[in-house]
Amino acid sequence: MINVVDLSKEYGQVRAIDGLSFDVQPGIVTGFLGPNGAGKSTTMRCMLGLDTPTSGSATIDGQPYRQLKNPLTKVGALLDAKATHPNRAAKDHLKWIAQANGISTKRVDEVLELVGLSAVAKKKTGGFSLGMGQRLGLATALLGNPEYLILDEPVNGLDPEGIHWVRTLLQNLAAQGRTVLISSHLLSEMAQTAEHLIVIGRGKLVADMPMAEFIRSHSATTVRVRTLEPAELAVTLKRAGITFSQELDDLNRPSFVIPDVSSDEVGKLAFENHIALLELAEHRASLEEAFLQTTGDAVQYQATTMNNTQLEGDK
Ligand code: ADP
Repeated sequence: MINVVDLSKEYGQVRAIDGLSFDVQPGIVTGFLGPNGAGKSTTMRCMLGLDTPTSGSATIDGQPYRQLKNPLTKVGALLDAKATHPNRAAKDHLKWIAQANGISTKRVDEVLELVGLSAVAKKKTGGFSLGMGQRLGLATALLGNPEYLILDEPVNGLDPEGIHWVRTLLQNLAAQGRTVLISSHLLSEMAQTAEHLIVIGRGKLVADMPMAEFIRSHSATTVRVRTLEPAELAVTLKRAGITFSQELDDLNRPSFVIPDVSSDEVGKLAFENHIALLELAEHRASLEEAFLQTTGDAVQYQATTMNNTQLEGDK
């Protein structure tokens, strides 16, 4: 198990993570989610002994990473897929790491095969696309056949087929009893991959729950209805125990707003009670929107996106 206990990290005035506590369980894929700048990489670097926490601890099997005997055979990590020598061939890059860590070089061909890079094993990594770089990063993480995998944005730069492939690979590795932690700033990327979610916003824990529960609690639907017979609809809804509010819509027309029901339910109820409807519309809050709201970063995120666009425009 990975245990993070009251972990904080400050860089000068910046508090990158602030009193984080959570566990990562074996046997499932755990998603580590938060908007850009939330503190995911800092947390992972602390887990991997690449950063020293200001306070608190992160341990793997009860030990800090730096005290592990053969760390690569215990923990596989992907932090920066670009961390390869551009003039070195993919296979040589892996061989070099294997030799330095007492791992059989036979394993190099196995992992190249596993990540689908066998055909380009002799090509220099400098010419690799972002997606190929990610695959090589995964191959490096898997080299020591580790029990733990800590991967920062592993599907970044992969096409839909690549994402599907990583998803299946990680789920299979978890099913073998390994502990798999993957970070992402996109909930949509994680929704089908992770079984459990740890969400952080501005360095603090926001949610630690099963993915299904997170989705359920953040994807409420609202139905908007306009009818020729508002009094009858109000009575019918009350009788069915459905709560609603009556509001003016954006064109100033009287309408009913009904939370937590489907349009099917409302449509059926109206039909059975001979109530003529003029409009029946279902609104589902975007999961991504809800996630950004949860992390308190909706505004900051939009501002960043705008700045990026402006910067690109300035070039
Ligand atoms: P995420 O991985 O969620 O995008 P990071 O862990 O990279 O977030 O960053 C969290 C915060 O810490 C950000 O405000 C970032 O600017 C800051 N930060 C991260 N690394 C450093 C560093 N080496 N020096 C100064 N500030 C840093």
